Amino acid sequence: MRVVDLITKKRTGQEHSKEEIDFLVGGFTRGAIPDYQISSWLMAIMWRGLTDDEMFVLTEAMVSSGDVLDLGDMAATAVDKHSTGGVGDKTTLAVVPILAAGGVHVAKMSGRGLGNTGGTLDKLDSIPGFRTGLTIDEIVGQVRSVGACIAAQTDTLVPADRKMYALRDVTSTVESLPLIAASIMSKKLAGGSHNILLDVKVGRGAFMKTLEDARSLADAMVRIGKAQGRHVVAVLSDMDTPLGYNVGNLLEVREVVALLQGNAWAEPHLRELVLRLSGIGFLMSGRCETVADGEALAEKLIKSNAAFEKLSEIVTAQGGDASCLDQTVKQPVCRYKLDVHAPDSGYLYSLNAEAIGAAAMRLGAGRATKDDTIDPTAGIMLRHTQGDMVVQGNIVATVCAPSEAQAREACLDILEAIEIRQAAPAASPFIYETIGLD
Ligand code: URA
Repeated sequence: MRVVDLITKKRTGQEHSKEEIDFLVGGFTRGAIPDYQISSWLMAIMWRGLTDDEMFVLTEAMVSSGDVLDLGDMAATAVDKHSTGGVGDKTTLAVVPILAAGGVHVAKMSGRGLGNTGGTLDKLDSIPGFRTGLTIDEIVGQVRSVGACIAAQTDTLVPADRKMYALRDVTSTVESLPLIAASIMSKKLAGGSHNILLDVKVGRGAFMKTLEDARSLADAMVRIGKAQGRHVVAVLSDMDTPLGYNVGNLLEVREVVALLQGNAWAEPHLRELVLRLSGIGFLMSGRCETVADGEALAEKLIKSNAAFEKLSEIVTAQGGDASCLDQTVKQPVCRYKLDVHAPDSGYLYSLNAEAIGAAAMRLGAGRATKDDTIDPTAGIMLRHTQGDMVVQGNIVATVCAPSEAQAREACLDILEAIEIRQAAPAASPFIYETIGLD
């Protein structure tokens, strides 16, 4: 087999065999096929796409490139969760302890943020001492003893994806639906859980800007899971507006703590999504008969404080200082805080998630490039959400910044990102639909 012939084959729109895809993925992972040839093949996929069979085989080949997590007797009822990423998306930090408090095993491997969207590992890094770099044995051991763990993907899991993603990132081949689906699902399949719960974000702050694209991606991932005998459910939720009130690492951890402690200021969409994902997770694991029962169980675990206690247990097990979760203990604060005031009276018609994510990133809450360092205290606290009535001069947001200049710049960014109108925005669903729940 010659790589150049396989590139031509895809470039001319022909279907690859399993042997050909195994040859390309295996050869690239071992370093036997150079970057420039795989880049060219990826670009051919970008234009020509993949058939379902090719996408399934590609995913399998990527899983086979490294280790897989063996959850043993826990695998059948274990639930893994993945979000395609968004601004202020802290649902993992709430859903994982809720599920674990309800007796569901969760081995969650997460990533770091890049660009406008945040990453769960960065949020956890804001907890002093918290270790995300666990070995496979440590992950499995903690899932058995505590019920859950949230860790970084280990180097030995799906190395093909790491290498391919690094190439895609610099060759404009990230935005290929079958490549995205195979990339996400290879990591979830290697995670070893039978049940995989996907939160596919839609809107300005998400990878997928339209409902149609998000639905196509979700469908593809559900089909990949089915082909591998896994149960995959995908929830399509809005990411046009930031999720919750806080955007920024420590700020988001605090928002999750407030939610898990049943605090009244929890933002309604965040609460709705956390309950829905938890409800579906309980259903998938066999803990409940319906999503509604699962949601009721999640509410009960919040009310009884069991979910918050489980979060503290996970933090402690991973070396973190759980006193950081205690609202009564003095917490680190940012250097400068500046309020953003409503320029007019009216309805808060729209809050552009992409623009607010970019503003938070520039404050130091995220990374523009992989090597940027994060300021855990930096971010934005929204004081109102879409549809709220505001009066001119009301505080609509507070900026937490490392310097006064950055704080002032972020205030201007936020004023650009919000829109106030005299008419209220039309009511639209926040959770659009659920795929694979049958
Ligand atoms: N997230 C992934 O893990 N992979 C992609 O290809 C895109 C987003």
